[in-house]
Amino acid sequence: MRSFQVRQPGAPLELAEQPTPQPTGTEVLLKVIAAGVCHSDLHLSDGYFDLGGGKRMSLTDRGMKLPVTLGHENVGDVVALGPQASGVKVGDRRLAHPWIGCGTCAVCAREEENLCRAMRSLGVFSHGGYSDYLMVPHPRYLIDIGDLPPAQVAPLACSGVTTYGALKKVGPTLKTEPTVIIGAGGLGLMCIGVHKAMGGHSTIVVDIDAGKRDAARRAGAGVVIDGTAPDAAAQVIAATGGAGAWAVIDLVGSSATARLGVDSLIKGGKYIIVGLYGGDVTLSLPPIPMRALTVQGSYVGSLPEMRELIELVRRTGLPPVPVATRPLAEVNAALSDLRAGKIVGRVVLTPAG
Ligand SMILES: [Zn+2]
Ligand SMILES: [Zn+2]
Repeated sequence: MRSFQVRQPGAPLELAEQPTPQPTGTEVLLKVIAAGVCHSDLHLSDGYFDLGGGKRMSLTDRGMKLPVTLGHENVGDVVALGPQASGVKVGDRRLAHPWIGCGTCAVCAREEENLCRAMRSLGVFSHGGYSDYLMVPHPRYLIDIGDLPPAQVAPLACSGVTTYGALKKVGPTLKTEPTVIIGAGGLGLMCIGVHKAMGGHSTIVVDIDAGKRDAARRAGAGVVIDGTAPDAAAQVIAATGGAGAWAVIDLVGSSATARLGVDSLIKGGKYIIVGLYGGDVTLSLPPIPMRALTVQGSYVGSLPEMRELIELVRRTGLPPVPVATRPLAEVNAALSDLRAGKIVGRVVLTPAG
């Protein structure tokens, strides 16, 4: 099998050709049909996150072991099962939930594996789907996608469930007030679509790029705002009706967007940070209690959230995120296009051709 792996942080992914593994125990082997290319793959191949002020968080220090095959947004066909794997059969087409915990701790027992302290996430801490085959540790992580098209479904495994998890944190005002979304890349367009599917009131979308703002408008954003405008926060507040936003979902996560997000909130508002662009910010503390602000992080999503999302999409239809497919061998070109900001929507690799 061919796999594209991080061997050296900062270098292009390297092709590894190895024998196809055979599943043991509860494992299930998928033939990969669709593997989405995600912005976080850039950080994973660089080997670090930028913490601001010149500080970095090294991914190998956090438990990433090299070489590792990237790719955490995967749909595949079951081709082999270990002797203890049940609930799926050869030929079944499934989305693989990648945010897998240790499976034994208290956090995993309450089905919040995405918060486990010993995660085994596919395409991050264990081999992912930039490969002909993907090994999934247990059938419970496989989700039936029905007749939905694999290339459009694959991004739900990361950008879909990440935005769904963040939107759930908004709470009841999701349906009664506008939600602000900062960033209109692949994640932003997904967020607009999932917000609509969840019955959200309306969206105010901020991006610094005119092309991405147009894409957001086409995807159904109620209002779009240029994040580079010196009065961007005032524009966001005006778009909410003048008092500020009940919820800002920051899909960028830079120093500038954090400032903008917090400055756009109403009394009692929530700033929910998802993006991992990097940086830092200094906040005055008294306004946090006095204005009862919430600053909350949101990291991917849980297995129950993934199941809810797929059920929602099977009921309401796929979010209208533009998807372009490319062969597996073009993975490095796709990553450099993503780094250069040239991709609107999502690129999905098709290892099976
Ligand atoms: Zn991702
Ligand atoms: Zn755990």
